[in-house]
Amino acid sequence: MEQLNLNFRHNENYLKNLFEKATGREISLTLTDNSTSMLSVKSKGETLYVRLNRIFLEAGTEVVGEVAEFIKKRRGKTPLISGFIRERREHLKKKAPRRLNLCTSGKYYDLLNIFESINRAYFEGFVSATITWGKERPRYAVRKRTLGSYSSHINAIRINPVLDNPRVPGFYIEFIVYHEMLHAYIGVKNKNGRRSAHSKEFREGEKVFKDYEKAVAWEKINRI
Ligand SMILES: [Zn+2]
Repeated sequence: MEQLNLNFRHNENYLKNLFEKATGREISLTLTDNSTSMLSVKSKGETLYVRLNRIFLEAGTEVVGEVAEFIKKRRGKTPLISGFIRERREHLKKKAPRRLNLCTSGKYYDLLNIFESINRAYFEGFVSATITWGKERPRYAVRKRTLGSYSSHINAIRINPVLDNPRVPGFYIEFIVYHEMLHAYIGVKNKNGRRSAHSKEFREGEKVFKDYEKAVAWEKINRI
């Protein structure tokens, strides 16, 4: 494969052919606008079903090469892809109207640090959402506290500032961030016509978090 790092506008057929050559398998390629799941691969019978975000049409040859490698092995490190997504994200952030005032560093916890390290450790850098502390709300107005939320419309995670507290252990806030990132990563699936955010797949994914048991136990005995 040529290693020219030109910014080249690929087309769908070009990518499909390239992935077929790289994998020796038949490829069913769907280009998506799904910014939360940038790349997914499923093997079914003879065919590899690839869902890829449209932005990769503009990726350089080396990035596309890494996508092909990843489709072939369905695992492994993907530094070029992560870098490409990060660049795009920064680019989009600059262009997007500021609907959300991003604020990531708290008094005790830095959300961006937490986000980036979880993204690397669990999602291969694929979660493209932005993250911010939510607004402080008067205590009496909060009936049932939402510690975190994810909006797929603006691809943004909000974390409740009550968690920016030394009383809250690191593993717990990491778990909350992980939970919201998992929403961003999996998306909301339709199950029998009903939207299910906490699907079986989601619950399984939640348990992958290394301090899952600890976090759940901590949550039970501590009221935030
Ligand atoms: Zn949730």
